[in-house]
Amino acid sequence: TQADLAFGLELAYRAALSMENARLYREAQEAIRLRDEFLSIASHELKTPLTPLSLKLQALARELERHPDAIPYSVVKGYVDTGARQVKKLAELVGDLLDVSRIAAGRLALELEDVDLGALIREVVVRYEPHATRAGSTLEVEGGESGLIGRWDRLRLEQVVTNLIDNAVKYGSGKPIQLSLEQGPTRARLRVRDQGIGIAPEHLPRLFGRFERAVSERHYGGLGLGLYITRTLVEAMGGRVRVESEQGRGSTFTVDLPRERTLPVDVSVAQPQ
Ligand code: ADP
Repeated sequence: TQADLAFGLELAYRAALSMENARLYREAQEAIRLRDEFLSIASHELKTPLTPLSLKLQALARELERHPDAIPYSVVKGYVDTGARQVKKLAELVGDLLDVSRIAAGRLALELEDVDLGALIREVVVRYEPHATRAGSTLEVEGGESGLIGRWDRLRLEQVVTNLIDNAVKYGSGKPIQLSLEQGPTRARLRVRDQGIGIAPEHLPRLFGRFERAVSERHYGGLGLGLYITRTLVEAMGGRVRVESEQGRGSTFTVDLPRERTLPVDVSVAQPQ
């Protein structure tokens, strides 16, 4: 009868509603778990540089007390250099956290200007060379001749290149790292290739999401924000970033960028995953 039909429909509707509620509940639980896990990783990462920093400052204060006039230059330099390294690490972590909250609030603005990508890459490589050498690695640039000019945000592009090189050094097992630059009439392509630990296939799909950390061993450190920020910045400049990787053989990150940005700059394109 009609009443039975209406009753049946009502039951089906309620069942669908409760399934939908259960799904939303599971998603909310998962979001809370991710947030809690992230908070614990973030506080650990922020605390890590603070320990050596505070130890060095205490030791320096003791030295100054012991030899108020004659503390050797090399001793002071050692303390100051270590301190400065830790402060830089902290500043980078806090910078990444700020970027993520700017992205979430839609408040990350780009400043487009004419940028020479080859020159920018050479500058970053020179700056990163000592770091790569310490990790036993080398940075090789192919096709970085001048004249590859596009409308990009210089500092944000530098951040993209830095993030990719930083990861290539960190996960590159001390093997050579290749950067290659190709130029088309309307596009530029940058590749960063390492021969390091690689990435397991199951981690690839979510690598550019927020808080992704494919390597669980803590000794690599990191907040898992670098690639999320990288993707957001590249997409805001109208480009794309992708990765090919084989575990144990290495990874190649490819960034494609249009040289002219015709669409309005919009950072909300890269929604958090
Ligand atoms: P993190 O600060 O953890 O390095 P990223 O967002 O830069 O954060 O990278 C996310 C994860 O992707 C890393 O934790 C690492 O597991 C993996 N990853 C990134 N780059 C590489 C690479 N070149 N080789 C291997 N794994 C990588």
